[in-house]
Amino acid sequence: MTVVHSPSRHVCSAASAPTTWYHASARRPFARSIPLIGETTADVVIIGAGFTGVSAALDLAKAGLSVVILEANEVGAGASGRNGGLTCTGWRHDQKWLEARMGQEDARKLWLLAEDAKADLLARMHDFHIEADWTPGQIFAAHTPRLMRDLDDDADYMARAYGYERPRRLDREQVAHALGTTCYYGGWRDPSAGHVHPLKLLYGLMQAALVAKANLHENSRVIEIGADGSKRFARTANGRVLAEHILLCGDGYLDGIEPDVEARVLPIGSFVIATEPLPANSPILPLHDSAMDTRFVVNYWRKTADQRLIFGGGEKYTPSWPSDVESFVRRNLAKLYPNLSDIQITHAWGGALGITPTRLPYLRQLRAGVLSASGYSGQGVVLAPYFGRILAACVLGQHRDYDVLGRMPVPHFPGGRVLRWPLLTAAMSWYALRDKLP
Ligand SMILES: Cc1cc2nc3c(=O)[nH]c(=O)nc-3n(C[C@H](O)[C@H](O)[C@H](O)COP(=O)(O)OP(=O)(O)OC[C@H]3O[C@@H](n4cnc5c(N)ncnc54)[C@H](O)[C@@H]3O)c2cc1C
Repeated sequence: MTVVHSPSRHVCSAASAPTTWYHASARRPFARSIPLIGETTADVVIIGAGFTGVSAALDLAKAGLSVVILEANEVGAGASGRNGGLTCTGWRHDQKWLEARMGQEDARKLWLLAEDAKADLLARMHDFHIEADWTPGQIFAAHTPRLMRDLDDDADYMARAYGYERPRRLDREQVAHALGTTCYYGGWRDPSAGHVHPLKLLYGLMQAALVAKANLHENSRVIEIGADGSKRFARTANGRVLAEHILLCGDGYLDGIEPDVEARVLPIGSFVIATEPLPANSPILPLHDSAMDTRFVVNYWRKTADQRLIFGGGEKYTPSWPSDVESFVRRNLAKLYPNLSDIQITHAWGGALGITPTRLPYLRQLRAGVLSASGYSGQGVVLAPYFGRILAACVLGQHRDYDVLGRMPVPHFPGGRVLRWPLLTAAMSWYALRDKLP
């Protein structure tokens, strides 16, 4: 395996990976686990302790199956412990796009599933008493007049064709007031989307899975999966788990153990800063909404319960990451909020998220006993826990909604193993350039 400089490997392996504000502000409610040593058996072995894996483990353990989670690093080391925390509505594409590719019926089912995923997340936080600073309200802000017209058309279509009338239109003045910046031409506020403290959410789900008797081994990177007689195995440097089922839940960090997933799900780097607390009377996000904009390289931001601004802006499609994440992101922050150009940044970090060529998640049974879900393309806070539940349902023989989700088109990235990085870099850089055009 030669991909030593990919973003995923960088983040996974670097002991010096920047500390996130999330890790500084969330109490881990369960003890450190020990690495896997020797051979053990289970009904299900899960690779990766992010939202997908932990959520699957919770359902499976509650159903009475024996579950082992193998995590290369620690719970929350991946994207689930490093993201912007925005809980979004729908998919990365609008419904018209989905209808054109998948037909009316499937597109409609997908819309209902995405709505269910949003509701399911809130229900689980409630059921398992997970305090994750959930805050409703999300503004989608248009950075050009043309994109504002597109947002209007889309909102109109969603109201007419899907009866989705919850979002409220904000004109230029209203969006400036809601965001505390005059950079946008208008926007829409969706009260059913919002934001959470993602690491508190993940820790809560993990704690519930442990209570249900799931087994966790951290610092246990899986280096090979395969079949042994009628069973499957996952092998680390020091041990092996024999199981009926393997769930691959490594998303942008899954490196080198499953070529089919790697061909379709590529890690890109996204970067975030946390500021010192803003004054209580700050005009920025006075209602504590979360916000994102229409740029291809999207800016996303929100305020924490203690008034810090969490701001993500800037992506990297090359294997090398910015040496100075703080300056890399601060530049984008200062464009929206020039008054904050000197604000103290207390934490700056990056993470790898899996994207697919169509920006639709990749859920598949790869072969008998091996299932995979990843590639949420920036919408995993709502989707990844839900897809974890779908994986669990498949193992339990329920096949809940697997069919339509498994039909989502997710081709290989062009270029094969060698050329896909340069091709991705060229394509993404072209789209990023278009952000600068009116
Ligand atoms: C900076 C950033 C900002 C983001 N912002 C948002 C946002 O605001 N809203 C949103 O919806 N989404 C956002 N995302 C995306 C979202 O965080 C992800 O889609 C989601 O967390 C994926 O969850 P997961 O469990 O599939 O993967 P992860 O959380 O990445 O977990 C995968 C885990 O698998 C482990 N692993 C990988 N390979 C192996 C192996 N071989 N052996 C053992 N363990 C292994 C890794 O160590 C890791 O812990 C963001 C992502 C990033 C990086």
